Amino acid sequence: MIYSFTPPGVVGVPVLDSPALFPVHRIYCVGRNYEEHAKEMGGPGREAPFFFMKPADSLLYAAPGTTAQMPYPTLTSNLHHEIELVVAIGMGGRHIAAADAHRHIFGYAVGLDMTRRDLQNDMKKAGRPWCIGKGFDHSAPIGAITPAVQAPNIGQATISLGVNGAVRQSSTIAQLIWNVSETIEQLSTAWELQPGDLIYTGTPAGVGAVVAGDVMQGDITGLSGIRVAVAAA
Ligand code: MN
Repeated sequence: MIYSFTPPGVVGVPVLDSPALFPVHRIYCVGRNYEEHAKEMGGPGREAPFFFMKPADSLLYAAPGTTAQMPYPTLTSNLHHEIELVVAIGMGGRHIAAADAHRHIFGYAVGLDMTRRDLQNDMKKAGRPWCIGKGFDHSAPIGAITPAVQAPNIGQATISLGVNGAVRQSSTIAQLIWNVSETIEQLSTAWELQPGDLIYTGTPAGVGAVVAGDVMQGDITGLSGIRVAVAAA
């Protein structure tokens, strides 16, 4: 069997202290999963989780100790940062109970769910899909994956994002409305999870705009932080 052209390769994310790459299957994202952020977006706070996706090749790897360059995307004048804990799935499954969810987790990473907020809001108002606001090229910066065994206290970690050295978002993973296990339980009833899936678990309050020249620093206690500069288009 031959292909009519060279197929794109598998997207891989480096694993900390390992020569292996984590091969990415899908990227799931959770909406409004911190109460204060849900309120700032006009929601009531706690409500059932909802999901959207980004393409696997929208990832932008930010290697430890480097500054990744994210080109300012087209069609927007309101590019927002959303710092998020990313869960990497190592074992798939359907209808995974929250109590068993930990067995399916390969590791964790720091991620940014970059958002064309103006386009997302336009699509919301029109009742149209969010893809153009969320799933654009380079919209998913991510750091190296830390194996779960090396991040035993992730549930109590702090999560923060600074822009040009000023703190914009700061919270703790314990503030998640739906914690990682509950999210896996809910997500796996809607889709069969596969090894290689990534889950962006939602962002705390304080989202806001960045412009070309800004440098974002994302950190979660116990994980490899990320540094991403917004480059001119
Ligand atoms: Mn998000």
